[in-house]
Amino acid sequence: MIGERRIVLEPREVPLGGVRGMNVLRVLPHRNLPTIGAWCFLDRFGPADTRMRVEPHPHIGLQTVTWPLVGEIRHRDSLGSDADLRRGQLNLMTAGNGISHSEYSIGDDPIPLDALQFWVVLPESARHGSGGFERHTELPQVTLSADAGEDATGVVVLGEFAGAVSPATVYTPIVGAEISVPAGTRVRLPLRPEWEHALMLVECDATVATHAMPRNEMLYLGDSREFVEVYSAQGALLFLIGGEPFENEIVMWWNFAGRTHDEIVEARADWEAASDRFGVVDGHDIRIPAPPLPDVRLMPRGRKI
Ligand code: MN
Repeated sequence: MIGERRIVLEPREVPLGGVRGMNVLRVLPHRNLPTIGAWCFLDRFGPADTRMRVEPHPHIGLQTVTWPLVGEIRHRDSLGSDADLRRGQLNLMTAGNGISHSEYSIGDDPIPLDALQFWVVLPESARHGSGGFERHTELPQVTLSADAGEDATGVVVLGEFAGAVSPATVYTPIVGAEISVPAGTRVRLPLRPEWEHALMLVECDATVATHAMPRNEMLYLGDSREFVEVYSAQGALLFLIGGEPFENEIVMWWNFAGRTHDEIVEARADWEAASDRFGVVDGHDIRIPAPPLPDVRLMPRGRKI
């Protein structure tokens, strides 16, 4: 067991660079905490007026979880998927052994855009398999009775929360849920003591386990909790992630999640060679080239929390 924790994970600004040409706020991975359950990555892009053009790029060994807050996003991938996504809907892409995709904002002009993109690392049983894409427009909602104020609500995006189960395909015991807390409400969010959890404050104000959170901060809660208490004065939007602590050490580099340096080198070479492994995303003239590998061998980042 890990035990109860209350550790602040501060986000940092990251330029996506190259043809992506936009700044994002990177919340995960944290240097001391490579995974929370199987969650291994979280970027917030926005809020901003943006003409987003994330050109085709590859993934291995993970699922991408795209959750728009404002604006619409068009997803295309090497399986032939072409899907528009808006607030309240989930895009879930499973990379398996290899997939490629692009993400554009809708239209040719900048639009107000704000979205969360998470990655979930795949276990051994799924990471060598074929890719997949799902869009979910109907997700379960749960009511969380308040100790003071009005009841809070949750949308179960991935896995299981408060007795409801998302229809999205997952490969590890996991939770991802968007939580809305009305103004003046104090509520206990039910947690599984055997899972680790973290909460991100997406909008407004919240005090979580007596810690006052700034917007975009993530608070790591450890495990061993039956619930966590949340209070909001103005009304808050939060995102809860968690799950069974991921057993394997992972090597993450660029858009790849593997177990060894050599796997990453091979995936990079396959992308650069335009191998069938990653297929083709129709309707694009350009693809994002892989950055150069570092001079050192890629190593798993250990857990220091
Ligand atoms: Mn991607």
